[in-house]
Amino acid sequence: MEVLVIGAGPAGCQAAAGLARAGHRVTLIDRQAPWEKPCGGGVTAKAARLDDRIVAAVPHERVDRLTIRYGSRASVLCPPPARGAAPLVLSREALGRHLLSEATAAGVRFERDQLHTGRRAGARWELSFRSGTRSADFLVGADGATSRVRRLVAAPLDVRDLNLTQGYFVPAPSSGEMTVWFEPGLEGYLWSFPRPDHISYGIISRPGRGWPRDARALLEGCLIRDHGADAIGRSRFYSAPVPALRPETWALNPIGGPGWALVGDAAGLVDAITGEGIYYALRSAALLLSHFPESHHYQDAVVRECIGELRRASELADRFYNGRFLGGALTERMVRLTARSPALGKVLGELIAGTQGYQGLKRRLIRTIPAVARDLARSCFETSG
Ligand SMILES: Cc1cc2nc3c(=O)[nH]c(=O)nc-3n(C[C@H](O)[C@H](O)[C@H](O)COP(=O)(O)OP(=O)(O)OC[C@H]3O[C@@H](n4cnc5c(N)ncnc54)[C@H](O)[C@@H]3O)c2cc1C
Repeated sequence: MEVLVIGAGPAGCQAAAGLARAGHRVTLIDRQAPWEKPCGGGVTAKAARLDDRIVAAVPHERVDRLTIRYGSRASVLCPPPARGAAPLVLSREALGRHLLSEATAAGVRFERDQLHTGRRAGARWELSFRSGTRSADFLVGADGATSRVRRLVAAPLDVRDLNLTQGYFVPAPSSGEMTVWFEPGLEGYLWSFPRPDHISYGIISRPGRGWPRDARALLEGCLIRDHGADAIGRSRFYSAPVPALRPETWALNPIGGPGWALVGDAAGLVDAITGEGIYYALRSAALLLSHFPESHHYQDAVVRECIGELRRASELADRFYNGRFLGGALTERMVRLTARSPALGKVLGELIAGTQGYQGLKRRLIRTIPAVARDLARSCFETSG
């Protein structure tokens, strides 16, 4: 079959490589890959497990310390992740270069070009690109959060189903320390992720009035605090949307149909609380390969395997960022309680590392209550004694 894959991010490269290995004639198209795509570059242990060649081939920093802060009021150093569960952080350009070379080695033809528009004509696709027209039997949309392919087969993601991000790549020696922090009134979080030769700083949140200006000021304040007054001038700025589907959107979200499939961000497959999408990009590509060219079976597999967890994240996102607990913001209380309870710190660390899902979270927290109570009692005695 003649297949066109649009977008050479993790989803597109993996899908293209697998389809070529299965004997299809595959052309992979990207307007700029490989490139330093705006991204934290955090790869959870569960994502790294999907393809162990990534860990072997791409330079990365392994995170051995995770600090969580709430403004300047509270902070906690989570217990180190168990062996094999530590997240790693890498440059997206390095990841892209590796995945693209694997795809071309598998027989994929890569071309730098940009999809403009197209239509289904009988059993074929007729598509128009910056350089001219092309046709194909099957179209894979791996072209990210603002996917053109998604527009051809359904509708683009609604702005209410996108989070906004801004960030800086800061040249600085790396340390293995990852920091995530919450701010009063911010429906999202800031991060500092260590990479082999720089640090990736960023902020993710629901877009709101005045948001880009406020978010950038907040982010730059953190950068100056951590790296000095000249940090902004030395760093590279970026801004990009990332899917964060509302709970009600999942039921209508298009994933596959006759002669087409969407993978990764183009299919909206991102965790609405953390913004993790690399795992879902790789996993959706693998599911497409298992069911190709039966798109409806692919769609069913994504729903079965990924959507339950992603929908749960969407349902919890509002409560997580805007909820109140014991008279304060939920995120503040979470940081304060975690600082006094290693048992809670372990759960939180695993949630961020991706080894604890949202679906079993409530049960796990209930099971952890006795250990948390013991930790709190011990910490009260230590404080008073
Ligand atoms: C600031 C930020 C931080 C993030 N941090 C993390 C993180 O730490 N960990 C994590 O797991 N996830 C993170 N994510 C999400 C993650 O980046 C994405 O989920 C992931 O890259 C999705 O992979 P993909 O292959 O689906 O799409 P992408 O990686 O977005 O690749 C899409 C490709 O399509 C190409 N393209 C787009 N349109 C066209 C066109 N018309 N014609 C040709 N080519 C086109 C683009 O050039 C691009 O190369 C973050 C996202 C953002 C914005």
